[in-house]
Amino acid sequence: MSRPRLMIPGPIEFTDEVMAEMARPTPSHVDPGFIAIFGQALEDLRSVFLAGPDYQPFILAGSGTLAMDSAVANLVEPGDRVLVVDTGYFSQRMADIVQRYGGEVTRLRAAPGETVSAEQLREALAQDAYDLVTITHVDTSTGVLTDVQGLTAAAKDEGALVIVDGVCAAAAEEMRQEAWDVDVYLTASQKAIGTPPGLGLLVVSPQAKAKWLGRSTPVGSYYSDWGYWLPIMEAYEARKASYFATPAVNLVMALAVSLRQILNEGMEQVFARHERLSNAVKAGIEAMGLGQVPTDAAHAAHTLTCPRYPEGVDAGFLKFVREEGAILAGGLHPAIKSEYFRIGHMGAVSRADVLTVLGAVEAGLRRAGYAVEPGVALAAAQAELAR
Ligand code: PMP
Repeated sequence: MSRPRLMIPGPIEFTDEVMAEMARPTPSHVDPGFIAIFGQALEDLRSVFLAGPDYQPFILAGSGTLAMDSAVANLVEPGDRVLVVDTGYFSQRMADIVQRYGGEVTRLRAAPGETVSAEQLREALAQDAYDLVTITHVDTSTGVLTDVQGLTAAAKDEGALVIVDGVCAAAAEEMRQEAWDVDVYLTASQKAIGTPPGLGLLVVSPQAKAKWLGRSTPVGSYYSDWGYWLPIMEAYEARKASYFATPAVNLVMALAVSLRQILNEGMEQVFARHERLSNAVKAGIEAMGLGQVPTDAAHAAHTLTCPRYPEGVDAGFLKFVREEGAILAGGLHPAIKSEYFRIGHMGAVSRADVLTVLGAVEAGLRRAGYAVEPGVALAAAQAELAR
């Protein structure tokens, strides 16, 4: 492949089988063949999130922000008290959406690179009553991984519903939606789920559905209202034709293929592969003497790595990395934006990608004037992969 590998934290490189679906003639959204594909995709989405048959999946045309909007618009009523576990840029977006729908937001804030522990959440919940807690599984702006299982248990013990933004985590980081009692797990197509941008995906628990059914006020968004979408999702899953708004037909076909690829690999294998490859990238970064934004490896994401620029290097070096074979992203968190860059390694990522990106970063750093011995990052990654 002569073009550089796209290794930002989404969109990612998609498999050839997924891309082939995008090029197929678009069928009618009520074509029996397409209805079968949509129905299968709904079932498979539930399986990827490790949720049981009474959990309700939604596949919507839109991005991850639409999935966030859909969860909040339907579950938050004006005056509801919402605790936002704030680990960065996308937690702040969730807080903004909650406020837009009239929720009262309290933030439990972590400094950039830090996480919020289950104990800290328990303390906050002991001080006030909340209807809902939101958690960002991996905040893409800091590379911080939250303890979704522990945080969710803390919230549920206090009777709050839990929405988890899994946009930079789903189908990569360990997530057992039903076992961990997560009420909404949501993501977007363009990340580890492995489909081009354009779909917002959610799976909703029976408890969350009950809260939505018991609303005393109408949902403040027309397009996001589950009142329109629930019958559509139920119809597709029952392999029946139905219409509210035209689905993104080719994207749904592509999603069905990527969900199958993920399930064929197996969720435990998918989680383990992301961890193994992430450890290799991080070992390579460390071997070159670069720090990372997450303050502890124990809460560093496995879907991306956020290395700090070494002395004398800035975002200008990403141009060299691109010429050396990999497209990376700059910083995103406003407080530290100019201090770090981001390497995405999720979805159909392989050891070859890991070695490509580390080789490109090594070469890019040398061209930017930072002394790094050729091969150190690659050797460290190889050693990690051989473990
Ligand atoms: N949440 C997280 C954690 C994200 O990483 C992103 C996208 N980078 C979003 C939400 C928003 O998704 P989208 O850009 O698809 O709207």
